[in-house]
Amino acid sequence: MATTTRGKVLRELEGRGRGTCPVCNRKRIKLLYDKTIENEQVIKVCKSCRPKKALNKK
Ligand SMILES: [Zn+2]
Repeated sequence: MATTTRGKVLRELEGRGRGTCPVCNRKRIKLLYDKTIENEQVIKVCKSCRPKKALNKK
């Protein structure tokens, strides 16, 4: 899997990969991880709120 959490890839993401984390409400943090919530909705969360399974990628 290509690295999607660093480097120029971030510049191509919406908001350059940054925004407010919906879980911890920190602003301008990198939102790089998909988290599935109720109703099978997928949201982007920051590094510290990432689901455990994200740790196995890469
Ligand atoms: Zn967070």
